[in-house]
Amino acid sequence: MMEGLQPLAALWGLPGRAGQASLKEENDLPRPFNGRLRLGAGPVLESSGGVAVDLPRATERGAISLETLEAWSTYLMTEAYATRTVRSTSRVLRAYYRVRPFLPRQLQIVLRRMHARARTGRSYLTWPIDGTFVALAETFLALFLESIGGEGQVARRWPPGFRGALVLTHDVEGVEGQRRCSDLADLEAKNGFKSSFNFVAERYPLDRDLMLELQARGFEIGVHGIKHDGRKFSTRAIYEERLKALTLYRDAWKSVGFRSPATHRRWEWMHELPFEYDSSFPDTDPYEPIPGGCGTPWPFMLGDLVELPITMPQDHTLWEILGTGALTTWRAKLKWLLGCQGLINIIVHPDYLTTKSRWADYEAFLRDVREETTLWATLPRDVARWWRMRSGDREAVRLDASETVWKLIFG
Ligand SMILES: [Zn+2]
Repeated sequence: MMEGLQPLAALWGLPGRAGQASLKEENDLPRPFNGRLRLGAGPVLESSGGVAVDLPRATERGAISLETLEAWSTYLMTEAYATRTVRSTSRVLRAYYRVRPFLPRQLQIVLRRMHARARTGRSYLTWPIDGTFVALAETFLALFLESIGGEGQVARRWPPGFRGALVLTHDVEGVEGQRRCSDLADLEAKNGFKSSFNFVAERYPLDRDLMLELQARGFEIGVHGIKHDGRKFSTRAIYEERLKALTLYRDAWKSVGFRSPATHRRWEWMHELPFEYDSSFPDTDPYEPIPGGCGTPWPFMLGDLVELPITMPQDHTLWEILGTGALTTWRAKLKWLLGCQGLINIIVHPDYLTTKSRWADYEAFLRDVREETTLWATLPRDVARWWRMRSGDREAVRLDASETVWKLIFG
């Protein structure tokens, strides 16, 4: 799956390249410092993710080849940088999930907070915003355009007229959450939105009438795992057994989308999920049980599966782990995503909508995005279908290159 992956050529719908640079050392990947990514001493590309890229001088440009940029972005997208961290914590995590049912809720939160604090210190990506991937992607496009005379056509990220996409998603963790789904759907409908609700197949008594009613109202139903016990990716045998069960529930519920419980994921296995799309990779999130992130604010293909990265900071992190309101952080990330034409993919768990102020946070967010007329507010399955088919839909892009400053101009 990692062999020959070229995330940037795929993103822009450009032909892949024969040579593949490989990345040996973690240190090979340059990191932005104070908002600057230093690749050389040439002109500056102001990337839309807020990072200024110091490009190599014309005479040195060969040193940062398009292949190198692909290798760096692969390293980020596949979370190869986190492999060691993930392996070392997976034993601790498994132990945690085994004892969790017996722990009081408050103690669970304390343990999660300790875990989170230990993570943020050594996280590779910054949170809640990391512009590295966007910087690499736009550097790639700029250098490519320079090599073909400064003008070209790339695959549209969004349908004509839109500069971003928005999907509202909900993972239903238990009966309490399930009981709040109708109110949540009402709130969204009142503001002109539809959303997707992901249910766990065998964790709590499912309200099938509710699911059918939501679908009848135009909401989407997705699968949020079979048991939510953190064991799906633990062995090949368990994974294969769960895949069979997932297929049955997918068909019974007429679902096409999947969200992994606790955003557990394993790059090499994910493409086998029997769905049209998966939405389990955060772009950046040091607070999840598996810390890390794929770095990209845009969807991507994972084999035949479309991946819709979770790009908004998690309600659980803001409300329960950090104990702050969510709105300020959501607004900051929303603004950033609009700036780089990203996918705005938010999870709100009905289970955590336990106070008036949390409902108010979400309603204020809905009112904010309602004002954004260039945003394609739709269901995850529609974004996935668009992304799969979009490559033939092109838009013009031009490199505006002066001696000192480079800019990409779309459309
Ligand atoms: Zn969950």
